[in-house]
Amino acid sequence: MPPTQISRDGEPASSVYGSRFASHELPCNDIPDGPMPANIAYHMIKDELSLDNNPKLNLASFVSTYMEKEAEMLMSDAMSKNFIDYEEYPQTAEIQNRCVNMIGKLFNAPGETSVGTSTVGSSEAIMLAVLAMKRYWKIKREKEGKSTDKPNIIMSSAVQVCWEKAARYFEVEERFVNCTRTRFVIDPEEAVAQVDENTIGIVAILGTTYTGAYEDVKGINDLLIKKNIDIGIHVDAASGGFVAPFVAPEIEWDFKLEKVVSINVSGHKYGLVYPGVGWVVWRAPQFLPKDLVFNINYLGADQSSFTLNFSKGASQIIAQYYQLIRLATADYLAEELKKLGFIIMSEGHGRSLPLVAFRFPGRDEKEIEDEHFDEFALALYLRTRGWVVPAYTMAPNTDKMKMMRIVIREDFSRSRCGLLIKDMKLCCQQLEQDGQQFVKRMESNYEQHKAARQDRGNSLHNGDSEYKNEHHSLSGKTGKSHPVC
Ligand SMILES: *Cc1c(COP(=O)(O)O)cnc(C)c1O
Repeated sequence: MPPTQISRDGEPASSVYGSRFASHELPCNDIPDGPMPANIAYHMIKDELSLDNNPKLNLASFVSTYMEKEAEMLMSDAMSKNFIDYEEYPQTAEIQNRCVNMIGKLFNAPGETSVGTSTVGSSEAIMLAVLAMKRYWKIKREKEGKSTDKPNIIMSSAVQVCWEKAARYFEVEERFVNCTRTRFVIDPEEAVAQVDENTIGIVAILGTTYTGAYEDVKGINDLLIKKNIDIGIHVDAASGGFVAPFVAPEIEWDFKLEKVVSINVSGHKYGLVYPGVGWVVWRAPQFLPKDLVFNINYLGADQSSFTLNFSKGASQIIAQYYQLIRLATADYLAEELKKLGFIIMSEGHGRSLPLVAFRFPGRDEKEIEDEHFDEFALALYLRTRGWVVPAYTMAPNTDKMKMMRIVIREDFSRSRCGLLIKDMKLCCQQLEQDGQQFVKRMESNYEQHKAARQDRGNSLHNGDSEYKNEHHSLSGKTGKSHPVC
């Protein structure tokens, strides 16, 4: 019998579920004293993970859930490479630089080769962009002999949470331009009106996470030029950066606009790579101050580096290159949902991200709003059919408007769309039949279930009780929910 078939106390363990490990809890707090056979460890962990949702039915997320076999093979080949070992893996570094050049070109960066870097995702990319904007502003202010202790940044209240993090972590005052019940994006006039001498930049989102709408980058750009204001725009193109250039090339949002100084994009969203990879590109080296960049002399070779962390896997970068050199229907779904009586909040037709944002008719349509027959209840009912279609509370100043959002990814086929529409009809009917008492009970069951799950599923381990009820974020202050990204 091979050694993997002998269990911890020497008993033969010919079958996974016949072994003594199957009758014990999996270790949670202590590393066990003895080893577990590989095949048993594999099956036990795989079984536990089967409680997670099926990624393909997760219509909440922008992040890739499908890649071709060939891409997966390249990724698994590269899994043991540490990307930061430039000297050991020079070809991987070269491939990153090619990706930066291609993405810079895609975004119409003026130079032949672009300044930029791969990151773990758009969040790291945004942290780096904020640091660069802040440092650029600081150097300028110091030259003028002016104070540098009160930097601020202007953004829409519909920003992804990483912007709030960046502002807080790097001590930059956040100035929000609020949404309204009819405008879910930044207002360029209001944004520019908030600029003062301490503003390090304005953020515009190419594809907000609520409705997928593209913010008016050109509007902000033109106002800054008209008013002769010398500050830059950063475009958060986490989702839209790999959509707009292909679907709506006529939209002006990138380095073609002279005030755009930096852009981030998530490789793991419509860059079609599994998580986590992101990119940040600057218009020109002058916007990435030299004193933020480190030259790592690794075994004799110099490679410049601007990142928050050091080691990371090489697979995602190689996979990005694969997708870039290999490259490739939300409107139908929106029409079907309209027929079911929903109000469509997203623009569609290539003018926004490929997603459908919608809500039940409410007070704006002179309908009575029922707090138990709402978007959150429908989300719950869809969940029982396996679909993850989340409900959200909109950004502040929309009077807690509720909404739902379905993200369309590469693997969302027309036939899957048909199945979803059928289940949406079914769930709406059920919701109507079940009556308020039942829905209320179901919601409270779900809340309990969620609380139990959160005990396990908090990413800051044991952080739940210590850190809950914070009041510093938009979410803590206004009840805004952050859409899944
Ligand atoms: C997803 C997203 C982010 C965060 O990106 P990650 O790649 O998940 O770190 C930031 N901004 C917007 C608009 C997003 O959609």
